[in-house]
Amino acid sequence: MKKYNSEEIHKILYKKESHEVKYSNYICPICKSRIDEFGLCACDAAR
Ligand SMILES: [Zn+2]
Repeated sequence: MKKYNSEEIHKILYKKESHEVKYSNYICPICKSRIDEFGLCACDAAR
């Protein structure tokens, strides 16, 4: 199964580049991704 990196996920989900997404200051302890303005991290996007 292909694993997406966070940049790909943001392009797919939000149709914008990851640098355009505002991130919170929280890091997900599971995937080590920053949690973005939607409260999503790579775990959520991978579902
Ligand atoms: Zn996560």
